Amino acid sequence: MFYYHPERILIDKAVSEEPLTRQICSRFPDVPTYEVKNYGWHKESSVNDPLKNPLSQGKKTLHLKYFQGTSIKACPGFSDNLVCCNYFTLDLIENCPFECTYCILQAFLNKPVITVHANLEDIMNQVRQRTSSQPDTLFRIGTGEHSDSLALDKTLGINQHVIQFFAALPNALLELKTKSNHVEHLLDLPHGGKTVISWSVNPQAIIKKEEFKTATLDERLKAARMASDAGYKVAFHFDPMIDYPDWQKGYQGLVEQIFDNISPDRIAWISLGTLRYISSLKSIVDERFPNSRVFLGEFVPGIDGKMRYLKKIRQRLYRNVQQKIQKLAPNVPTYLCMESSHLWKNSMPHQPETAPEMEGILLRSLEKRYPKEAQCLM
Ligand code: SF4
Repeated sequence: MFYYHPERILIDKAVSEEPLTRQICSRFPDVPTYEVKNYGWHKESSVNDPLKNPLSQGKKTLHLKYFQGTSIKACPGFSDNLVCCNYFTLDLIENCPFECTYCILQAFLNKPVITVHANLEDIMNQVRQRTSSQPDTLFRIGTGEHSDSLALDKTLGINQHVIQFFAALPNALLELKTKSNHVEHLLDLPHGGKTVISWSVNPQAIIKKEEFKTATLDERLKAARMASDAGYKVAFHFDPMIDYPDWQKGYQGLVEQIFDNISPDRIAWISLGTLRYISSLKSIVDERFPNSRVFLGEFVPGIDGKMRYLKKIRQRLYRNVQQKIQKLAPNVPTYLCMESSHLWKNSMPHQPETAPEMEGILLRSLEKRYPKEAQCLM
């Protein structure tokens, strides 16, 4: 099991008295702390060898920051051309201690340190205001956009506050998306059925070669079983699916392993998405992970500018997994992440054209399958 331990903690003056800052510092009593003002990685001169591998070096610094912007936002998948699932993202942490070769954060973030937005109460107030402004909407809100939701949580302890906050919100569901197995500390929390813990999954052969420092597939499934036994709904994201020589056997086996471990009744949803990347990522991955095989094959630019496998390859991957899920668990809703309605045809049982249509499929499934909880969910 992987545990994160920073080499130093930088604290924005503005959050030095925040309860979360005190909590995090108390968990690393041996780590030096420094108060900073307007910290910028580019101004660093004290990092030992910043040019050698800044992305790995940067993760050893934990920066507790005052976050001023809008923390709850529409998912970047929202677009006129792609069928999104009407999802919201909540920015609590930027960057991740895991090392997935294909991780888009390597090209996306403007600094390699791990940043925690420590003014948690302000951020939660933003969530309260946003969700209460539309009381008839069920907000699905995930924290796994700019980090892994649970990779750091065993040591930082942020989600115990967030889960309990969401338990009291009438019209929101929290999704914690992870490749870790750190759930023990969450099992006894009063989550009120308002948190879904989800796992990004791949066949173990891909995890071993491309998802360094993450939990093995067996560890993830064991953690999912524990979460499910503790009353959490769970979810799975086949994302990013990789086209590799043994893909058919690998993904079919993966679907079987999931249902061997978790009852379909406890699975809120399953999403599918194939590898996609912005072109600036490739040179970074070539340098950091020269043995990675993720970018082998033919890719084409999509309507959002991201590179993807050819349409026939994506459809083949989706259809194969979707049919297997349909056979083993026909009531579990599945959806494609960041694909056009065109791609849904010939791959999926439904062909929604818009985000509300797509979201309606998920919500109706939740309502039907969790009628007791539906009153507080819908
Ligand atoms: S777990 Fe997610 S955020 Fe972390 S390195 Fe892997 S892809 Fe990036």
